[in-house]
Amino acid sequence: MAIATINPATGETLKTFEALNDAEIAAKLDLANQAFEQYRQTSFLTRSHWLQKAADILEQDKAEFAKLMTLEMGKPFKAAIAEVEKCAVVCRYYAEHAPDFLADVSVKTDASHSFVRYQPMGAILAVMPWNFPFWQVFRFAAPALMAGNVGLLKHASNVPQCALAIEDIIRRAGFPEGVFQTLLIGAAKVADLMADDRVKAATLTGSEPAGASLAVAAGKQIKKTVLELGGSDPFIVLESADLETAVVTATTARMLNNGQSCIAAKRFIVAEAIADKFEKLLLEKFEALKVGDPMQPDTDLGPLATPGILQDLDQQVQGAISSGGKVLTGGHPLSDRPGNFYPPTIIIDIPPETPIAKEEFFGPVALLFRVPDIDAAIKLANDSPFGLGASAWTTNDQESDRLVEEIEAGAVFINSMVKSDPRLPFGGIKRSGYGRELSIQGIHEFVNVKTVWVK
Ligand code: NDP
Repeated sequence: MAIATINPATGETLKTFEALNDAEIAAKLDLANQAFEQYRQTSFLTRSHWLQKAADILEQDKAEFAKLMTLEMGKPFKAAIAEVEKCAVVCRYYAEHAPDFLADVSVKTDASHSFVRYQPMGAILAVMPWNFPFWQVFRFAAPALMAGNVGLLKHASNVPQCALAIEDIIRRAGFPEGVFQTLLIGAAKVADLMADDRVKAATLTGSEPAGASLAVAAGKQIKKTVLELGGSDPFIVLESADLETAVVTATTARMLNNGQSCIAAKRFIVAEAIADKFEKLLLEKFEALKVGDPMQPDTDLGPLATPGILQDLDQQVQGAISSGGKVLTGGHPLSDRPGNFYPPTIIIDIPPETPIAKEEFFGPVALLFRVPDIDAAIKLANDSPFGLGASAWTTNDQESDRLVEEIEAGAVFINSMVKSDPRLPFGGIKRSGYGRELSIQGIHEFVNVKTVWVK
């Protein structure tokens, strides 16, 4: 895939970039390692100060960064602004809390003094996707840098200007040269990086094949990885639910980021008793969404990020129809305009056991299933290769307890959509990946947990 900015709303190529050659990559790895030796000696106070400064820059120039995101991957401008603001929040969160999260922990044993110390590992590679081009990077960088690691970013090839802007923000915030570098390289170079002694560990957010390939390369070198992969999150609505709120949230949860979010609600599992009403209200909400230029403030749904994503999504929709699904609205790319536009789409009546029903639909397509009761709802929710998040709606405490206990996922949200929050861990089980980001768990992923025993 060429490293380039291609406006997904018009198809126009705006800027192309040369990938780094091997010598340039080697120079950056050397610089990262030299920087680490000095950087690991800096105090939490100094790192916090720089990270707060990064938050200031993000807040001051949010419109500029948001515009870049919308231009490169098509998310609505207002959502891009919110994304930049959230990046500032995660920087401030770790600037404030990392010293506590990483403080020595005394443990009483038969030693005269024993404790746990958290130490940085070195250069950590972050292979990141285009869907939240700023957020995904800052949620890695903020804890990694506070822990004393240095970062190497291999961003998705369609968001190179975002990648360079992030490097620039971190540098301008005061972090020393080499502490955070963007590598403009294609995916084919990632395995070589994992084989290089100068890279100590890696995190990847993206598709299953990309995650598996990184894990193979890292496994050969016995290096740690964190993987945040796809999801086909259930959105369960039981009979006692507040239906109006559930439908409004269902629409937001499915359309988030033009439908391209790993934690977007994708499978809507609704109790038969309220299914007709839910379906009717959801259809109204979907048909009221404004599809168009993502730069316009009143646009709800912009284009998909690339022609490939559009094509894949449409193939899945056609597959769902051949498997017995019926389209209530949408169902074809919008061919009346340039760009990668797909309309809000609802598909009902897909047999849950068909393979297509178990795939991740990365776009504005809702699959609707009817179930007789909570047992069937939980069974269908868990009948997925993924296990990232789940949203469930009920006003009954016993049902709520069962949903929390029995749903197989990294997160269960009751009467709310699934969202990430710096204060809570984020990650999946099953084919959605492993490891956690954010919160105290996130900062502990890339540190040496050193046991110290003093007799
Ligand atoms: P990819 O997984 O291909 O891309 C994500 C990142 O991984 C990019 O930086 C990409 O680089 C890199 N990458 C791709 N292949 C490899 C590899 N073999 N080894 C190492 N790194 C690799 O996502 P796509 O953009 O192709 O999207 C395809 C599907 O992935 C989506 O439809 C969706 O299902 C899922 N996805 C999930 C995301 C999530 O948030 N969990 C985010 C994005 C996608 P490059 O761009 O250079 O190829």
